[in-house]
Amino acid sequence: TNSTVNFKDYIRVIEDFPTPGISFKDITTLLKDGEAYKAAIQALKKQVEHYNIDVIAGPEARGFVIGAPLALELGVGFVPVRKSGKLPSKTISASYSLEYGTDQLAMHEDAIKPGQRVLIADDLLATGGTIATVVDLVKQLGGEVVGTAFLIELEELQGRKKFEGIDVQSLVTY
Ligand code: 5GP
Repeated sequence: TNSTVNFKDYIRVIEDFPTPGISFKDITTLLKDGEAYKAAIQALKKQVEHYNIDVIAGPEARGFVIGAPLALELGVGFVPVRKSGKLPSKTISASYSLEYGTDQLAMHEDAIKPGQRVLIADDLLATGGTIATVVDLVKQLGGEVVGTAFLIELEELQGRKKFEGIDVQSLVTY
């Protein structure tokens, strides 16, 4: 990165959470440090500003913590992507599979105008299932996904293969 902050120093790794064998990347230790949080958002801003973004979409809950401040920095809007049943107006939804069963993400049907240039932001890219679902929703609304941005990419899981052709920007890889 082009920042003086070494972001990995601020990410706490917790073994066997939430289940045995998972090495969980805890970003709360970065978020609570004002300097590190700000540096992370500014570093991501530099990596994505060339996309000429109209709006940022981020899935609940940690996608809000990255996507909303990034949107403010870029002077663009933010669209929340939520679990089904949470948004109050008319929605569209898409399902994705979890380890056991499926879940659904939803967006307001008027959240994105056809042709808008959309960046998708989240804290972490793992298998890519979450972001592939958000890509699907944005495309349903006619948005153009110009890229994705994460604090962390878990490279081994090859999540970026779930949305080939779409750029991935991240600050830290494991
Ligand atoms: P994926 O759908 O790419 O498999 O999983 C990514 C989603 O799960 C993200 O929304 C992210 O918040 C959450 N997630 C999965 N593993 C971790 C982790 O180790 N640390 C954090 N902070 N979030 C994770």
